[in-house]
Amino acid sequence: MSSDKPPSRFVPFLPLDPNDLGIYLELEEEVTDSPLIAFVRLIGDSPRTRCLRGALVSASGSVITPVVVKLRQEEAAEGFFPEDELEGLDASRDEWWVRTLADLALLQGDTSCFPELLLPAPDCSPLPTVPPLLFCTLLRRLFAVFCPTCLGPLRSYRAGTAPAAAGLPLSAGTEQRYLSCPQCRQEGRETRLWAVSPPVEATSGEVAGSFEDLQRAWAEAATRFASGTGHEGPAPPCLRCAMSATCLGGAPGGEATGRRRAKGAASQPLWNLFSSTESPYIVTRLVPASLEAFADRLGGRPDTAIPGLPDAGGFIFGDAGSGLDAVEILTLKLSLFLQILGCVREYHLRLRLPHLDLHPDHLVVDPGRPGELLPALWSFRTRLLGTSGTREVALGSGASVLLPPREMKVPFAAPRVREFSAQARRRAELLIERVSAESDGSGRYRIEATLRDPHGLHLRPSTHDWLLLAIPDGAEELGVASLVVRLDPRLGSGPGGEIRVTSEPVVLAPAAARRIARSGGLHLPLVRYRVYPRFTDGDDAFSLGVIFLRLLMVNDTQDLSAVAEVVAGTVRRATAAAPVPVRSGSFLVESALSAALAAHPNLLTKSNLFYRQIDRVPDRPHAVPDTLWRGVLMMAFRLIEMGINPPAQTAPVESDRLDAVRAEGEGLQRQLHAVLFRRQGLNLEVQALIEELAASDPAKQH
Ligand SMILES: [Zn+2]
Ligand SMILES: [Zn+2]
Repeated sequence: MSSDKPPSRFVPFLPLDPNDLGIYLELEEEVTDSPLIAFVRLIGDSPRTRCLRGALVSASGSVITPVVVKLRQEEAAEGFFPEDELEGLDASRDEWWVRTLADLALLQGDTSCFPELLLPAPDCSPLPTVPPLLFCTLLRRLFAVFCPTCLGPLRSYRAGTAPAAAGLPLSAGTEQRYLSCPQCRQEGRETRLWAVSPPVEATSGEVAGSFEDLQRAWAEAATRFASGTGHEGPAPPCLRCAMSATCLGGAPGGEATGRRRAKGAASQPLWNLFSSTESPYIVTRLVPASLEAFADRLGGRPDTAIPGLPDAGGFIFGDAGSGLDAVEILTLKLSLFLQILGCVREYHLRLRLPHLDLHPDHLVVDPGRPGELLPALWSFRTRLLGTSGTREVALGSGASVLLPPREMKVPFAAPRVREFSAQARRRAELLIERVSAESDGSGRYRIEATLRDPHGLHLRPSTHDWLLLAIPDGAEELGVASLVVRLDPRLGSGPGGEIRVTSEPVVLAPAAARRIARSGGLHLPLVRYRVYPRFTDGDDAFSLGVIFLRLLMVNDTQDLSAVAEVVAGTVRRATAAAPVPVRSGSFLVESALSAALAAHPNLLTKSNLFYRQIDRVPDRPHAVPDTLWRGVLMMAFRLIEMGINPPAQTAPVESDRLDAVRAEGEGLQRQLHAVLFRRQGLNLEVQALIEELAASDPAKQH
């Protein structure tokens, strides 16, 4: 396997030169040496990672299993959280990878809810990385960006290790990154820094070479190598290749030799920069089908190519003509959803955190092994991809808050997640009424105050939520520039737009504490605040409800946003109209459902289960009993209501309510099975009887 001819579409990646099993990356096309050839990217990754499709390839060259390789995305999209303090972790930082790996390790085990982690070992330290890489489109090989002097791999030159001494800006944060050769430095040779990414003009002078400088140096190295100056040890594969000068593009003296090049590509080197810094990696087994494609296939969408599935058929009652095919579709879609719910509950149990980023791109379906007893569509298994970016972060000394991932997806994101992502720090005034010294002798104080926002307080903070106040002049007057506060129920509530808060203990300037005590208060006309809601699994419930609507209602003419808007809007209106004691729970959900069905009968009708218009015509047989259809809608409404009226709960994850919905779904599932398998062939009168039975089923009384 160490030959220069890997299986034609696959490029060795881990290791770069495998003798045995290896992880390979997949190219988009079978045979081409175009400089534009690209690796197959997968959806579902965040702007700060890139997910590539690959395979675990055996020593004999056969594909054992398809895999996903997740790498750091170097040029991330900008624009999340322009604000400074407390950003969620993202994949640009190594810590994100360490924690993601630890989470993935927790999610491994005997359930089939999550993709299997193949590499690296979750507890290995330091975090393994791949070096900066080049890709030769001619040889179709990846190899380390190499030092033109010793041909060894170049490495990122870390901030603080010396560039300041060399008269260069520190390469911290997102600015210029440099590569340098650790081998040459260690052996006392003169070493250059190379500014590879982002590319710079060649003006950075003698100290840092540009990418073009590096290419010229490579060309010289290739010439030296070709003239046999006796280089020992490993060398980049292209230098051993007869076409080496071709790969280097405008290499001196190399242009005329070797193969003819297409016009216009003459000055285009065949080496592409694959990555310009070290990147951590996570390799998981690939689950082939996307949730949305699979759901559409269940609804009868033709021409959906799903790996591992026949293009058509796969049902038991597919052409029965009795309308039982509708019951089968609902059974399968409900099953699909209950698997998703099961995955999310498993995620909650193992990580003790809400996910907060549930949407179809994070869910995949394995259609199951063909050739077993059941028809092809009855063996699927859904998995929740990886972990979300939701993190617990310390705010001040004692408070800890959950930050949702930076990217959120509408209409799936829960209302609180959306509002949180959209909020800028708001202005308010703060009236400090009292300071009280902590009794622990730490010299710290708690501040009691009234926070007043003339435009109404954002996100309606409750006693479970934290607020961060930034006090522009606070450092001078108080000795602190920010306060972490929360609603204090002991202080009672003020009028609208005003809340009474108590701070976490802070160290105040001694004069300030005395002055506040003496004058009986302090008025700060301008503070800025930001609310950190206590996110819970109730927020996940909302996303689950929208996902369920997606599975049930979306077809070739109806899209999700309209449906989700109608459902959420009806729940909101029903909440506003309900008497205060029943502003949540079953009564509210029932009345919202009835109102939505009355106002939008077509939008929510059961024929939407079918993907094609031809199956949704009025006189087509449809054997789903209306009570079961209503029961399924009730589940979706119930989940969405949980996110709109989040109940107060102390722990981020409390299993009861989601488990109740799950039990409700399993009850409906049993009734659907009864219609399919025990009552099959009975006439409509008996079906009406089943409906009555279903209506009196205690499982419906949640
Ligand atoms: Zn070197
Ligand atoms: Zn090459």
